[in-house]
Amino acid sequence: MIPVLMPVYARSDVAPVRGEGCYLYDAEGRQWLDFASGIAVNCLGHGHPHLTKAIQEQAATLIHVSNLYASPQQEKVARRLVDLTFAETVFFTNSGAEAIECAVKTCRRHHVAAGRPEKYRILTFSNAFHGRTMTAIAATDQAKLRDGFDPLPDWFRVLPFGDLEAAKAAIDPSIGGILVEPVQGEGGVRPADPAFLKGLRQLCDEHGLLLILDEVQCGVGRTGRLFAHEHYGITPDIMAIAKGIGGGVPVGACLATERAASGMVVGTHGSTYGGNPLAMAACNAVLDIVADPAFLDTVRARAARLRGELEQMIGNHPIFESVRGLGLMLGVKMNCDSRAFVAHLRNHGLLTVAAADNVVRILPPLVIEEAHIRECVEKMSAAAAAYRVPEAA
Ligand code: PLP
Repeated sequence: MIPVLMPVYARSDVAPVRGEGCYLYDAEGRQWLDFASGIAVNCLGHGHPHLTKAIQEQAATLIHVSNLYASPQQEKVARRLVDLTFAETVFFTNSGAEAIECAVKTCRRHHVAAGRPEKYRILTFSNAFHGRTMTAIAATDQAKLRDGFDPLPDWFRVLPFGDLEAAKAAIDPSIGGILVEPVQGEGGVRPADPAFLKGLRQLCDEHGLLLILDEVQCGVGRTGRLFAHEHYGITPDIMAIAKGIGGGVPVGACLATERAASGMVVGTHGSTYGGNPLAMAACNAVLDIVADPAFLDTVRARAARLRGELEQMIGNHPIFESVRGLGLMLGVKMNCDSRAFVAHLRNHGLLTVAAADNVVRILPPLVIEEAHIRECVEKMSAAAAAYRVPEAA
């Protein structure tokens, strides 16, 4: 008999019912140190008083109104995002995949408005993850995401991640933009090479293409800058964000320059829930904390400490190969199956996330303290010492 939850996830038996700070608890009171953060969502940890209060007050005032009406709540958050970034206009969504959908539509409409409807394709990169809609899975070459969904639209050309020459060679009259994650998350925690990202920016400028950054996972302070592209000294034309911006309340956004959004006129896009007052209250509360330069300084300092301790620790255990990533978006590359080790870590009271290329993703709340770093490294070390690599089937 089919389970009541459509069986699309291989769920573990960890069943959290409560969260506090950097910890999750199940109904029996078992505790886990949460260095997964709902896959880079709970940037303020669990039950953060500022976020909780903002949500509670907004819930008691007004949860939802339609986008048929003016929205002072959305305007406030949009103004903050515009003031903090390259962007001049914002569309609010409910998820990362929806933010990507809006980004792709914005790119398409930009070229249509400019009289170039033939520029309907976008270059993307191997191992990318942009979400699970049909558009988003068409934008990757990962067979496990695409399997069983052919035929998919031919709107994307997928090229090797990091290969600027391949991107140059792939530009033809049908290409209107380039979509890339500055730091690939699901694809194995791979920061883009600076020359690659700068080169893509330059290619877009030379050929009249739009650079679209997917900062759904790496944005909102995760890398120690408000947005990851700030490390690279470039700005995009369009950017998709989600995850951390709501701190756990489902919300995403597509940010764009005025020029890039030239085709997004009345009737071209919409969303029933997108940007409702409850979601906006959460975004405001998150930005109050994460957009503070002093907070980001602390994130970078904690990230350097965590990375240093992980680098030291891996030398003691032959199952670990290397540490990679940017800020608090870290990956430990293993020389055995990372999924099995992530499951083993759960039994040692530590939550992490597996990524491609046998990487254990370490995505703690941005509010971690030194003690959490020590606890994570101790738990990883103890788990590694006790680990017996499962025999290949
Ligand atoms: N883009 C990136 C880089 C992501 O990591 C994700 C989710 O993991 C998405 C897009 C899709 O976001 P969502 O699951 O909210 O649709």
